[in-house]
Amino acid sequence: MSNHPLPGSELLDGVSGQELFSVNMGLTYRDFLVLPGYIDFNPSDVDLETKLSKNITLKRPLMSSPMDTVTESEMAIAQALMGGIGIIHYNNTIEEQVELVRKVKRFENGFIKDPILLSPEHTLADLDAVKEKYGFSGIPITEDGTARTKLVGIVTNRDVDFERDRDIKLGKVMTTELITANVGISLREANDILRTSKKGKLPIVDKQGKLVALICRSDLKKNKEFPQSSKDDQKRLRVGAALSTLPESRDRMAALAEVGVDAIIIDSAQGNSSYQMEMIQWIKSNFPNTDVIGGNVVTKAQAANLIAAGADGLRIGMGPGSICITQDTMAVGRAQATAVFKTAEYAQAHGVPVIADGGISNIGDIANALAIGASMCMMGSMFAGTKEAPGEYFYENGIRLKKYRGMASLEAMNKGGDKRYFSESQKIKVAQGVSGYVVDKGSVLNLIPYLVQGLRQSFQDMGYRNIPDLHKALRAGQLRFERRTESAQAQGSVHGLYSYTKPSMRAE
Ligand code: GDP
Ligand code: 5GP
Repeated sequence: MSNHPLPGSELLDGVSGQELFSVNMGLTYRDFLVLPGYIDFNPSDVDLETKLSKNITLKRPLMSSPMDTVTESEMAIAQALMGGIGIIHYNNTIEEQVELVRKVKRFENGFIKDPILLSPEHTLADLDAVKEKYGFSGIPITEDGTARTKLVGIVTNRDVDFERDRDIKLGKVMTTELITANVGISLREANDILRTSKKGKLPIVDKQGKLVALICRSDLKKNKEFPQSSKDDQKRLRVGAALSTLPESRDRMAALAEVGVDAIIIDSAQGNSSYQMEMIQWIKSNFPNTDVIGGNVVTKAQAANLIAAGADGLRIGMGPGSICITQDTMAVGRAQATAVFKTAEYAQAHGVPVIADGGISNIGDIANALAIGASMCMMGSMFAGTKEAPGEYFYENGIRLKKYRGMASLEAMNKGGDKRYFSESQKIKVAQGVSGYVVDKGSVLNLIPYLVQGLRQSFQDMGYRNIPDLHKALRAGQLRFERRTESAQAQGSVHGLYSYTKPSMRAE
């Protein structure tokens, strides 16, 4: 039984991708739907394996944006564990960006490599401040409160719960009879020690007695295997990093390659430039083992130049981002679905995968982006506000929020984010993005399983078991679409209710 009738059949309904995007009008993901296909499999049979770039295959088509309120090491680790990838932003010094990449490459499931430490001279009030800020209270104590000196004790909630005087020094209350393990221990052995000792924390120390890592019982309990995680051939998590086209990027590139970065994204709002073409060529000739993703582009001609320069992947989008005001400010850009379809059509013929970047706010947008040719979906706002996004939570009107800002917002540009834009003037900065706040979304480790399950169900409805089959059907004109009017869009969303509860975006 075929998923959809073949072209030419009298049962063929709707239009092909080619026909859908042949109208001289920019479409977004909301402007069309995929017509349902034939189901003869379960959502769990859907395989979401995909290509990030020519040489990197991932288990899931999801990735986080190189933005300073979205992707640093914690986010990149979570993305890679979940089968996607995070791209570390470059709104920082070379050393800082390299350190963030290194942390991902050195990550070992369950081992906290740089735990928060205090010294015996700190007080209970200091401990309270750590708890308030980070949410945990099991803190190893070293001689001077850094990892450079010996581990001398540990404080946990149980040591300090009933203590009224918050000025007492930690040296007085800490537990000094420690159960520790030596560097090199496996997670399984650590697990056994925690089980038999009934402790909540296991410090890992080197020969000099200095702390090198911490293992938390609570993590072991929730630590499942991550069979889908994105790993290189040395079994280290995969991670990407963003670069600008500025001259300093050559030093950055060399330093990032040194720590094993897997892919580079050249982060430019308008990627079709001589600067970017030269940068791609330079990276490909000096670092042939690192995949280079060029962008951003939205037309075939732009894509053609970057592919000719040697790009292993393309990032698509100019102006669809949730924090973005490029189209208002510059009057240049393209509606995102049209941009993805047109560039993917060209790039796929050249064996180059494309990333749909920006403007994705729900599972349907992801499914639509894949259906019109994208191999990956890059998201900023979707992942901002999760526990793994940089920044602290705060409350406004009782709602827990985190900051999310465009890299071309004045705030981010003042910190160096304007490398993405060809700005000659240091004095007059024209913002192409805004700063705002997003609500707490919990952990990416819960959010991604929710997105993945939704996506599997969507593939089932479309009648395809995997992304390559979906793309083949798209190119053959067998995958069928239909435009929808504004009233159809309104009808396709919740309507006519006095109030309702939005479903939560996380797997419980
Ligand atoms: P605690 O007993 O109050 O420390 O909290 P739990 O052990 O229940 O949870 C601590 C959580 O915070 C675990 O998921 C840890 O992986 C995480 N975490 C991240 N960084 C650190 C750190 O530096 N120290 C501690 N104690 N936990 C951390
Ligand atoms: P979102 O997923 O929030 O809709 O969009 C995220 C994407 O917006 C990023 O991956 C990046 O391509 C783009 N972006 C990030 N910051 C800015 C900005 O300040 N201005 C514009 N025009 N785009 C931005």
